[in-house]
Amino acid sequence: MKKSYRIEVDCAACALKMETAAKKTCGVKDATVNFMTQKLIVDFEDDVKKEEVMQEILTNCRKVNRDCEIFL
Ligand SMILES: [Zn+2]
Repeated sequence: MKKSYRIEVDCAACALKMETAAKKTCGVKDATVNFMTQKLIVDFEDDVKKEEVMQEILTNCRKVNRDCEIFL
């Protein structure tokens, strides 16, 4: 199942880093960051707790870009 989140990221390079970090997160089938629209689209694996996965995504994204934000 796919869900879209509003994000805040300063440049396209950081957006790409966020995308890579999100994709590596457990429970994520696929992730796409759109820098122009400041959106993160997450395709979750079946039977995962979306809230927990999103917290993990945020943690992983902050590791690569301290200042990024995901509005959960
Ligand atoms: Zn940047």
